[in-house]
Amino acid sequence: MRRDTYKHQGLRMQLIETLRLEGVRDEKVLEAMSKVPRHLFLEKAFEEWAYKNVAFPIGCDQTISQPLTVAIQSGLLEVKKGDKILEVGTGSGYQACILSLLGAKVYTIERQSALFEKTDNLLRELGFGAIRTFLGDGYAGLPMFAPFDKILVTAGATMLPETLLSQLAVGGYLVIPIGGDESQTMWRYTKLTEGDIKSEAFGKFKFVPFLKGTQ
Ligand code: SAH
Repeated sequence: MRRDTYKHQGLRMQLIETLRLEGVRDEKVLEAMSKVPRHLFLEKAFEEWAYKNVAFPIGCDQTISQPLTVAIQSGLLEVKKGDKILEVGTGSGYQACILSLLGAKVYTIERQSALFEKTDNLLRELGFGAIRTFLGDGYAGLPMFAPFDKILVTAGATMLPETLLSQLAVGGYLVIPIGGDESQTMWRYTKLTEGDIKSEAFGKFKFVPFLKGTQ
């Protein structure tokens, strides 16, 4: 098992300062991010990239989201202790750990089996066994466990998936980037009542695509 050294902790505090300079004000999110050893989510050879504010390849053609993006998505969810949250796009598992430390009951779904296996093992090794991991197509959500207080999509969609909206509790948020290949707008949908949805936009981002089916 790789270690979390003082050097890593120092680099992590510098990353938190960078996020503050970028305008992140959510202290709970920053605290959670200061606790999770992000370098353990990257291959050892690329460890030095872990505490830069960049997205990075994690294998299987996927990326771990940029720290600023994780901070923004986590903040938009306004996580309360005990919230039941569905994350679509487990990837490295880093974002799921942040939500878990914020007090959420996390359900996360990944479509690629190789990535699913690797991340599932890592989460258990790191002591995040409470995060419930699923291999499947995120477009279907997890009907067995719905409704969710919050749903977070960490891959770029081309349209709003109605299935996910239907699995959201009244009062809940769905945070999802929607757009084309080049960039997506971060949207937060609030389910005010079963038939009444409020939408808010939060700027441009670049995600890997939200693909249909499993692999
Ligand atoms: N949250 C991740 C970021 C992952 S990148 C992290 O913290 O590292 C987006 C992930 O979404 C990729 O792993 C990709 O395989 C996955 N993905 C894309 N389409 C999907 C779908 N339909 N269902 C589930 N996962 C999907």
